[in-house]
Amino acid sequence: MSVANQKGGVGKTTTTVNLAVSLAMHGNRVLVVDLDPQGNASTALGMERTADSRSIYHCLVEDENLRELARPVPDVPNLWCVPATIDLAGAEIELVSLVARESRLKRAFAAYDYDELDYILIDCPPSLGLLTVNAMVACEEVLIPIQCEYYALEGVGQLLRNIELVRSHLNPELAISTILLTMYDGRTRLASQVAEEVRGHFGELVLKTLVPRSVRVSEAPSYGQSVMTYDPGSTGAVAYMEAARELAFRAQALVGNR
Ligand code: ADP
Ligand code: MG
Repeated sequence: MSVANQKGGVGKTTTTVNLAVSLAMHGNRVLVVDLDPQGNASTALGMERTADSRSIYHCLVEDENLRELARPVPDVPNLWCVPATIDLAGAEIELVSLVARESRLKRAFAAYDYDELDYILIDCPPSLGLLTVNAMVACEEVLIPIQCEYYALEGVGQLLRNIELVRSHLNPELAISTILLTMYDGRTRLASQVAEEVRGHFGELVLKTLVPRSVRVSEAPSYGQSVMTYDPGSTGAVAYMEAARELAFRAQALVGNR
């Protein structure tokens, strides 16, 4: 599942990290791929990095084995992360001249057998460049976090058109499966208006769970933690746990229908 929205600061990384930890805490085997050169997901998952650390860059550009780059996340059994380093900032350009430049991540996933992992979550950068295209080609589903703020839907149309392009040319399996409303401030009428508008637009795709704005959520990464481990009883942690439960039930229903 790719977590994507080319707008920055809408909660992609926070969602990736906290859903991944929630799913792993319930016994799912989960891999997080950090595809953002900023490496915020790696930091939040406690991945220590130095200037010469191996990262997803070495997989995409230098063909290193993805499995060998995946590291266990400290204190969270069943969770692994392929970290990002700042090298990845150059990948967007370096990929241009490589063969099969759009499908390098997809090919890298062949390092895993299909039944070895329950979920792979890809944290996308805030752009629609080749890194995001690699995520869209490698995944089956897209989760779009939408921040409950003014201009929430700005850019979403462009994202949808790009997903459609990838579907028609590169990955027929691709589907937008999930919309998650983030940073919801129940005290403002604006937030509830945005939530209503998004539900009107996307209907059933929108998870019932709203992630509230919560200081604990924003504090957790500076301790190299998810909010799930940093403050499990906080409103943000409870919401992400609930959102993960919704995802898991949907996945179960899908498998049941196959
Ligand atoms: P993106 O990956 O889309 O750029 P982030 O997940 O990094 O967005 O979130 C942007 C900022 O908002 C971060 O500082 C993050 O800690 C903060 N944030 C995200 N979700 C919440 C929330 N539910 N409550 C409070 N702050 C949040
Ligand atoms: Mg991010």
